[in-house]
Amino acid sequence: MKRDIAIIGGGIMGSAAAYFLSKSGQAGNVVVIEPDPGYQHATTPQGAGGVRQQFSVAENIDQSRNSLEFYKNWETYMAGVPDLPDLNFREEGYLFVVTKEGEATLRRNQALQEKHGVDAQLISYDEVRRRFPSINRDDIVLGCHTPDDGWIDPNAGLWGFRRAAEHFGAEYIRARVSGIESDATKVRSLTLDSGQVIEADFVINTAGPWAAQIAGMTGAHLPVVPMCRVQHFWKCAHEIEPLPLVKDESGMFFRPEGDGFAGGRPSFDIAPGFVDDIYSGFFANYFEETIWPMMAALVPKFEDLKLQRSWFGHYAQNTLDGNMIIGKYSPGHDNIITACGFSGHGIMHAPAVGRALSELALTGRYQSLDLTRLEYSRVEQNAPLAEIGIK
Ligand SMILES: Cc1cc2nc3c(=O)[nH]c(=O)nc-3n(C[C@H](O)[C@H](O)[C@H](O)COP(=O)(O)OP(=O)(O)OC[C@H]3O[C@@H](n4cnc5c(N)ncnc54)[C@H](O)[C@@H]3O)c2cc1C
Repeated sequence: MKRDIAIIGGGIMGSAAAYFLSKSGQAGNVVVIEPDPGYQHATTPQGAGGVRQQFSVAENIDQSRNSLEFYKNWETYMAGVPDLPDLNFREEGYLFVVTKEGEATLRRNQALQEKHGVDAQLISYDEVRRRFPSINRDDIVLGCHTPDDGWIDPNAGLWGFRRAAEHFGAEYIRARVSGIESDATKVRSLTLDSGQVIEADFVINTAGPWAAQIAGMTGAHLPVVPMCRVQHFWKCAHEIEPLPLVKDESGMFFRPEGDGFAGGRPSFDIAPGFVDDIYSGFFANYFEETIWPMMAALVPKFEDLKLQRSWFGHYAQNTLDGNMIIGKYSPGHDNIITACGFSGHGIMHAPAVGRALSELALTGRYQSLDLTRLEYSRVEQNAPLAEIGIK
């Protein structure tokens, strides 16, 4: 059967694209191929849901601002969508803290953020202590506080986009793409593991950490690998004032979650690949031996905590520079695009990128945000566009 636009992977990114496309009324028939009905293996439900404007690459700041506006007006954008989940947007801010080594970079990044309209407040360590007395680590020299930032419930974001896409007419097929048929200039059809063949005029690859597998089906290469990331939820024996999401130069972060705290630190020492067990091998005792001492060094009250649970998911990590790749990527094929390689930023950027994918599919160019610098050409030219400072 013929569809106008086929989307491979219905996580938050594929569903956001499906939402903007189907809502536009100009996309014709939109189909999303998604094999995992409960999103057990997808990255999205495992995320921390953090949404922040503290970046060093201008496009990342702009994507965050664009997405924050969407998330803050979620009910308005999603008006009329049945069973819309509560996004639970918590506007409780972000706080980056740095040592002497990170000071100049934090100052430079803050200046750029301010230029892009962000309320990014540089605060001395004394001021950090005044606003958030539980933070107490005397090698910190500077903080950057963005009170407009916050976090969402990632699962609600995903299901909200999906229900809205379905409401506006997108069709979800429970299957896995197992092959792509193409000729010299165009992708023609997708073969599903059910045996079904879907012909499509235009295809979007939003398969997250599986995006490179999909790229291989048309002979293309995306430098995107799965990287296991572990998170933890703990309760603290002591009363702690309301805190924003706090992150330091090591990548360690935590934020309030219910009656406890959620957080972790991406390990930079593991090999890429899918992991199915965090209780043996590299991650055995990871919280006790690595995370807990670091958390307690930043917030001494965390010396008295009790770990409640740990869980994990896989970043889609762009090995060139850690930033997303958007647009055409398959040599010679002008009707297949991607948005992948988000590392830890795909939830916060889903509204902006879903919109951009829809614009590319419908008009061939960006209308709201110019994301050209994040396209595949930088991979071909081996020209990384990396975040500087806290990632
Ligand atoms: C521990 C952790 C913490 C994070 N914290 C944050 C955060 O605070 N803020 C933030 O913005 N981001 C965060 N992230 C990153 C964020 O979760 C991802 O960037 C985002 O979820 C990516 O969404 P996606 O739709 O691209 O991928 P996914 O959610 O992985 O969706 C991809 C989909 O493709 C499907 N698929 C795979 N193969 C095929 C196939 N052959 N055919 C059809 N479909 C297929 C899969 O079933 C899956 O549902 C975090 C990630 C982790 C792991």
